[in-house]
Amino acid sequence: MSAHDKYVLAIDEGTTSTRAIIFDHGGQIVAVGQQEFTQYFPRAGWVEHDPVEVWDAIRAVVGQALSKASINRHQLAAVGITNQRETAVVWDRETGKPVYNAIVWQDTRTQKICDDLAAGDERGTDRFKDICGLPLATYFSGPKVRWILDNVEGAREKAEAGRLAMGTMDTWVLWNLTGGTEGGLFITDVTNASRTMLMNIASMEWDDQLIGAMGIPKSMLPEIRSSSEFYGVGRPTGLLVDTPITGILGDQQAATFGQACFEKGMAKNTYGTGCFMLQNTGIDPIISKNGLLTTVCYKIGDQPTVYALEGSIAVAGSLVQWLRDNLKLFSSAPEVEELAASVKDNGGAYFVPAFSGLFAPYWRPDARGALVGLTRYVNRGHIARAVLESTAYQAREVLDAMKADSGVELTQLKVDGGMTSNELLMQFQADQVGVPVVRPKVAETTALGAAYAAGIAVGYWSSEQDVVDNWAEDKSWRPVMADSERDRLFRNWKKAVTKTFDWVDDDVVE
Ligand code: ADP
Repeated sequence: MSAHDKYVLAIDEGTTSTRAIIFDHGGQIVAVGQQEFTQYFPRAGWVEHDPVEVWDAIRAVVGQALSKASINRHQLAAVGITNQRETAVVWDRETGKPVYNAIVWQDTRTQKICDDLAAGDERGTDRFKDICGLPLATYFSGPKVRWILDNVEGAREKAEAGRLAMGTMDTWVLWNLTGGTEGGLFITDVTNASRTMLMNIASMEWDDQLIGAMGIPKSMLPEIRSSSEFYGVGRPTGLLVDTPITGILGDQQAATFGQACFEKGMAKNTYGTGCFMLQNTGIDPIISKNGLLTTVCYKIGDQPTVYALEGSIAVAGSLVQWLRDNLKLFSSAPEVEELAASVKDNGGAYFVPAFSGLFAPYWRPDARGALVGLTRYVNRGHIARAVLESTAYQAREVLDAMKADSGVELTQLKVDGGMTSNELLMQFQADQVGVPVVRPKVAETTALGAAYAAGIAVGYWSSEQDVVDNWAEDKSWRPVMADSERDRLFRNWKKAVTKTFDWVDDDVVE
């Protein structure tokens, strides 16, 4: 059997569902298995997953994908893992059981932990930024693990006795795939580690000052490895027996990889529930002065680490869902485009969806949503348009921050995710950023990126050049709006954003 008769499997452990996707050598999808899992909301602001349910879903979807593709595990050249980032799980190494549900990236219960850490230093929320590239925020894994150790009975004692392991979801999945309590591999990759607030972004090692401040015993932490190398094989007690597992990338980094953003300055934006924009900044980390995160983009084997600047936007597609479910303005997400197209502009209305504060570039937990500029003239079409425009303005703010930090002018923006089927939004996005917006043929860039990372490690693909060669444009949108109009709209948006600040009292932000 030649290498090209084989396939690569990507396990995509997402926020609401788990998927297994089999790709061929051309980077085309052969088969998909998918299963949703339960979202637990025990209190306002809390979001949890059951790691055992997630693992069961992975077993199921891998089986589904193999059977749909009518292939067996011997035909897999490699397996890659990509995952929702920051979501943290703590488990007992001896029993293999989580001590608590996984705390999901959106969960805000750790605000007090973050506030206390920020209060202890004049740099405030930027206290650890020079070391880990991140501001203190509930988003990241370290504070979530600290919360578990502080709040789950007996957890801290067990952790200090070396019995507990912590990991982002990649680590949990790999450990289980490779045998769990029977010798499972305890590894994370540099991209996931860069989201914990515990890793030194320059040395790629766990940082004693950070783990000390966060109160996390070092024995809990997995080994940090590159994103594309041989980690091990599936074990009999796991799944995919003897299949090489050779790629791990956090989901947004995987999408950046799948979009072939390998040159300094290249950027992609993923439009889903939220928006995640990453710009490749080359082999030197740039610590942002403009509210962006410094993160690891990828590391192939022993090649130099490639860094990225990232801007995360909390609410994008979920605002469309909110219009559908809470306001019942339409019955399916794509209808928002029709409604928005029924008017010629936003009618003066601006919608700032700061439902859970604002992420990049503001990082304002005190902000709450606002619909401003209303007059009797405004109708549901204008509101639909304001909703779509809000995503484009937020993306532009992130891009402007990237330009200011990196000094690199973007030549095009590669896009993916569910909202990119909205042509009105894509055109408006091109108008706002002033460069072409380009959508690739294979929309599953996240799984694809993980597959590429795994396939490159085993020589199934020879290098990143194969990824570039496989990448193909589906559609692009060019900017057509006059500069004066583009700037007027953006100025108004910025003004609208200021109306959302200081809404929630500091004492109430929990
Ligand atoms: P995620 O991976 O975050 O679950 P997806 O990439 O699947 O998200 O995209 C789904 C999101 O995109 C939903 O929030 C939905 O409201 C939004 N969406 C889907 N189709 C459209 C559309 N045609 N116009 C605007 N938003 C859309």
